[in-house]
Amino acid sequence: MTTPTPTRSQLGGSLLGQCLGDALGFVVEGYPPEICRGYVDGVLRAGQAGAHGRGAFAFGQYTDDSQLARELLQSFVACRAFDPADYAARIAAIFVEERIVGRGRATEEAARRLAAGVPWQQAGAPPPSAGNGSAMRAGPVGLLFSGDPAALVRVACDQGRITHQDARCSAGAVAIAGAVAFALERGAIDVPAFCARLAALVAPVDPSVAAAIARLPEWVAQSPEDAAGPIAALGRAAVSDGWQGISPFVTPSVTWSLYAFLRTPDDYWEPSAPRSPSVATSTPPPPWPARSPAPAPASTPSQARSSIGWAIKAPGCAPI
Ligand SMILES: [Mg+2]
Repeated sequence: MTTPTPTRSQLGGSLLGQCLGDALGFVVEGYPPEICRGYVDGVLRAGQAGAHGRGAFAFGQYTDDSQLARELLQSFVACRAFDPADYAARIAAIFVEERIVGRGRATEEAARRLAAGVPWQQAGAPPPSAGNGSAMRAGPVGLLFSGDPAALVRVACDQGRITHQDARCSAGAVAIAGAVAFALERGAIDVPAFCARLAALVAPVDPSVAAAIARLPEWVAQSPEDAAGPIAALGRAAVSDGWQGISPFVTPSVTWSLYAFLRTPDDYWEPSAPRSPSVATSTPPPPWPARSPAPAPASTPSQARSSIGWAIKAPGCAPI
């Protein structure tokens, strides 16, 4: 990695991109693939993005993913370095003060332990809890440490194990941070080379996540409809029955996010929601929640969570 310090534009673009994708997806987060596809085709592509929010939240609200990435950057700015104790205190505070929007159970439980005084090295959910909470916030690590791969891996792992101690979660965080760092480099992306470098970076942390990344060139050559099945299956053994589509288990969700980026790096529309064979060709009636005063499913503390610690119970989507 010989990337120079990211430019102001790259920093801003990466963060805005995360917030935008997060806000666009929040409306249907946790819903089955056919509902997500209907939202993309019938709402977003139709120029109606602002017509639907999520529960009490108007369209445009970003969620825990971006909030915790923002906190990581703010911690870095305040400390002039990555200080896991400071970041852990920020994670605890955003939950205790009920500022979090959407939440994974493992992250919330770790935050409660931190707030109760458990040291950050011990607060994270133990294996086999392996949601994507530590990966979803790791993008800024790639921006901050793009020129220092050893520091990138160390910080990605440390920021992650504050809430998730499973090695696969650390590997997912390294994968996202590494992908951001590689994407800062100028020029067209060579997918096989990109994936080989990323797999090599991740392999010492967890070989199973590295193996999934190493297979990405094969999947990137496939349509979203063809690639979604095998990528979703990466985590099937770890997920309760009933989850439809890409689950929030770290291995498939990180692999799918990398697939979406590498498949069409200059077009954020295409891989966003694979078309299920059961999807109607006409625009379905909007099953996603219109803006209303109803409680937001993703921000309700009592919402159903699986034994591996995430999931959003949404209307029409079986909880896991
Ligand atoms: Mg979220």
